[in-house]
Amino acid sequence: VGDTPLPDFSARLARLRGQAHARDLAALVIASPPNLQYLTGFDGSTGLLVVSASGADLLVDGRYEAVVRRRVGAGELAQVRVRGLSGSLGAALAEALADVSPGSIGFEAERVTVATLDGWQEAVPHRTFTRTTGLVERLRAIKDAGELAVLRRACGKLSDVARSLRLWVRAGRTEREVAADIDAALLREGFDRPAFQTIVASGPNSAHPHARPTGRRLAQGDLVVLDFGGVLDGYCGDLTRMASIGQVQADARALVDAVRAAQQAAIAAVRPGAHASDIDQAARRVLDGHGLGEAFLHATGHGLGLELHEAPRLGRADADRAVTLETGMVCTIEPGAYVEGLGGARMEDDIAVTPEGCEVLTSAPRDLLIV
Ligand code: ZN
Ligand code: ZN
Repeated sequence: VGDTPLPDFSARLARLRGQAHARDLAALVIASPPNLQYLTGFDGSTGLLVVSASGADLLVDGRYEAVVRRRVGAGELAQVRVRGLSGSLGAALAEALADVSPGSIGFEAERVTVATLDGWQEAVPHRTFTRTTGLVERLRAIKDAGELAVLRRACGKLSDVARSLRLWVRAGRTEREVAADIDAALLREGFDRPAFQTIVASGPNSAHPHARPTGRRLAQGDLVVLDFGGVLDGYCGDLTRMASIGQVQADARALVDAVRAAQQAAIAAVRPGAHASDIDQAARRVLDGHGLGEAFLHATGHGLGLELHEAPRLGRADADRAVTLETGMVCTIEPGAYVEGLGGARMEDDIAVTPEGCEVLTSAPRDLLIV
């Protein structure tokens, strides 16, 4: 866990209890791994957390039980009651709910499958299970000081990797070779792992937003999209820079400049109280002005945290219009434009919403890197 101070798990659990109480739920069952990690520090692949007014029970299987008991005892995890599974998960859930006051039990509708819910209902026949959405995710969207400190460090390290791109991006090398160099640099910088498969998309491949690195060799006149991220102490940073192999034709250069201007406009629009869709609109307006509105194939940004993509999403859907930015939110600002036959461009930085507007957490120069 590096030099990161322990999160205030009891404050997080208290906020979640408030949410459950406001919805008349006697308890909440949390199953999503990043939500379990946020609330308790437990970072295994499977487990259940039962949060009620009377406490919190963490249900883990035999792979995790001994370590979890030790870490709870050492104060490294939230102060939960640990329940191992002697029988089925359903049986353990029934035991954990036995002490909970009467009332319905909330579950994460986006996480729990119909089959899983059927199993729970069978094990706990006298309780009603009520679907909830985004309760923990909304808490996670506002980062506390400790989380912001980790994200700042992650973005600083990512920016250092970006400043070294000219060591690796060269004519004649394959996309895969460049991606491997970036991944090695992420590990040298101290990241636990890359946050996703590094994107190195050159020439015609750059016209596809989520191109995977191939054996294609970088060639004169290529635009190259370099999109990479790292996980540090559980938190994800995400950054994209553009390179060209030699000089590119004028319309490719104009594409890059338009995307940079769109990103600048989007960053300038960030402030508490703005709608998530306002940020997207600011970027889209600039690209529209360059005749590239149709070439902008994705949302302007996404929240960052324990997951690479989390709330808030900065897009143009009705759901994004309903989201208001708040101080402490952290997200990417990454407009792009993709034109078959010409190529693509994307520029991505990570920002934290502040009372004054935003703090840009990534610091690498945004100039087109001409190699
Ligand atoms: Zn990215
Ligand atoms: Zn991103």
